[in-house]
Amino acid sequence: MSIPVVVLGATGMVGQRALSLLKNHPWFDIAALAASERSAGKRYDEACRWHLPGEPWAGLGDRIVEACDADALTARLGRTGIALSALDAKPAKHIEKAFAEAGWAVVSNASAFRGDPSVPLVIPEVNADHLELVRTQNTKGFIVTNPNCTSMPLVIALKPILDAVGIEAVTVASYQAVSGAGYPGESAWDMLGNVRPHPGNEEEKVAAEPLKILGTFGEGGVTHASFPISARCVRAPVVDGHLVAVHVKTTQPITPEEATELFRSWAGGNLTTPTAPRPPIVVQAQRDRPSPRFDKDLGGGMAVSVGRIEACPVMGLKFFALAHNTVRGAAGAALLNAELLVDRGFVS
Ligand code: NAP
Repeated sequence: MSIPVVVLGATGMVGQRALSLLKNHPWFDIAALAASERSAGKRYDEACRWHLPGEPWAGLGDRIVEACDADALTARLGRTGIALSALDAKPAKHIEKAFAEAGWAVVSNASAFRGDPSVPLVIPEVNADHLELVRTQNTKGFIVTNPNCTSMPLVIALKPILDAVGIEAVTVASYQAVSGAGYPGESAWDMLGNVRPHPGNEEEKVAAEPLKILGTFGEGGVTHASFPISARCVRAPVVDGHLVAVHVKTTQPITPEEATELFRSWAGGNLTTPTAPRPPIVVQAQRDRPSPRFDKDLGGGMAVSVGRIEACPVMGLKFFALAHNTVRGAAGAALLNAELLVDRGFVS
């Protein structure tokens, strides 16, 4: 199998992760690296300041960056395929739409279409059935999105609890890595010797996106889950890995021991595609875990770590969860969605 993948926003923080993950992928072929007009026409190693360990520019430094022009890329390649988008939300709005109209399967990290009722917001282990929504999009191709990086560990940890005992309310506080803001991202003046309450709309996204993902798919589309989520988001001086402190009020009572067993035994849809982590949740027993430095790379950066699962005198249950924000929370999430699309026959 060799399906062409175009990476949109290839020069950015998430685009670089995407290329690293795609480099030796058994199903996908990196057909083009695309970015803004500022980068188009330049060699990748000139256009892109590389931020990742390992082989610089993922060994693709001599490739020429192209513009995010759906028609031009379709004509050059002589076919469509998968467009993995790591674009900023603003340009994503028209560029992703143009790729979907040209017949591409767009798997997007951007927030531009996450709230669109015809666009699935998917975490494959949680709501693979929502992919059916793409059949309601009036374009030759379609768009599938993944959630923001902070919602990722939260939703994966909530899913087994929701299914087993129901959820009445959630509060969550995040400790987010600086790579979550892209490059150059946060100013050093804001981050050195500091933790910084998120000034943007991250809290609104974390309160809303999980409810779509944890909703139920039916004839009328997705009915969002109805419990309230109250979120506080904070940037911490950490390179990679978003940690969240979660407090949950469940419908039926659950002990910390029962919750621990739920997390341990959760199979997340038994995915078998190349990037799917097995198991999807790793339970940490040590009192000072999970922590970004030690746990972000588990399962190739795709596993969510959960720990400190304890009784909460206010909400009933509390725990910490952690995910690598640019892998599990971004590039790896889009790649897993791409694999799911192939696995379920939406892309051939
Ligand atoms: P970034 O480092 O700032 O990269 C942005 C990318 O978008 C660059 O490749 C840039 O190309 C391209 N771009 C900007 N304006 C463009 C335009 N007008 N036309 C075409 N391309 C344009 O950002 P990032 O952190 O990688 O984030 C990318 C997306 O993923 C964002 O939507 C973000 O919200 C989302 N996301 C990020 C994370 C994370 O942890 N970082 C997690 C989840 C989701 P040039 O280099 O040519 O300017």
